[in-house]
Amino acid sequence: MPIYHYAPAQLPCKLCGNGFDHHQSASATALRTCPTCGKSVTRSAIENLNTPKLLRPLSVSDAKNLGFTVFKKTSAGEFERQ
Ligand SMILES: [Zn+2]
Repeated sequence: MPIYHYAPAQLPCKLCGNGFDHHQSASATALRTCPTCGKSVTRSAIENLNTPKLLRPLSVSDAKNLGFTVFKKTSAGEFERQ
């Protein structure tokens, strides 16, 4: 179930700050008002739930395999192509 972020029309809200997050099915009707303060709110989806997580840092060999040119810092201000 996606999480939506609701933000009050006028920020910040004295009661709910910058808004609130709400679990809701994608087909559910968006809330129109803040349950805390009753002001109208706008809904935005929180995207990062669907973003694949980077499981480990990108290694030099991964970067090369992906077609990046890798430079190694050899001394102050100098880089050597690997
Ligand atoms: Zn509020």
